[in-house]
Amino acid sequence: MRVPFSNISSTGSKYTLSNMPLPTEGEEFELQGPLEMACVLYKKSENRIVLQGSLQATLLLCCDRCLSAYPFRVQADIQLIFEFQAREHWHLKELDVPAGDLDLVDLAEPVVDLEEVARQQLYMALPFKKTCSQQCKGICPECGESLNDGSCTCKGQEKASPFAVLAALKKKE
Ligand SMILES: [Zn+2]
Ligand SMILES: [Zn+2]
Repeated sequence: MRVPFSNISSTGSKYTLSNMPLPTEGEEFELQGPLEMACVLYKKSENRIVLQGSLQATLLLCCDRCLSAYPFRVQADIQLIFEFQAREHWHLKELDVPAGDLDLVDLAEPVVDLEEVARQQLYMALPFKKTCSQQCKGICPECGESLNDGSCTCKGQEKASPFAVLAALKKKE
């Protein structure tokens, strides 16, 4: 949903998006179930909009250790400032006082794209290390099966330590 600055009032314009469609082709994640976003947009000036809101979604991520998909719940509060500046004024803006702890987003046109906001927030919420659980045992270095479901029948699988992987490689030579 794209909201032009001219549609936003100074007392606040409310937007509630449930079941927001968000194509995730080529993204690092898939959506599982609905994406809910609620926010209020305030016009601070002709070229400055403040967004306050929250977002809930469940993502499907790929575990770094066992490579299987697992659900990851995202619940984020959003506080953003959108600024649209005609290009010739950009050099002036750098002298502006920083906008406190709100994130400032420079726009190329005076339109807030709520879908793009949601996408950015989801990316920011992604964990640095993706693991399906603290106890994830990873995959067997010999057969590549996940060790979590115990389907691997390889013998002598001490643990999927780097040394075990090396040993497995050595054996193959
Ligand atoms: Zn895992
Ligand atoms: Zn195995």
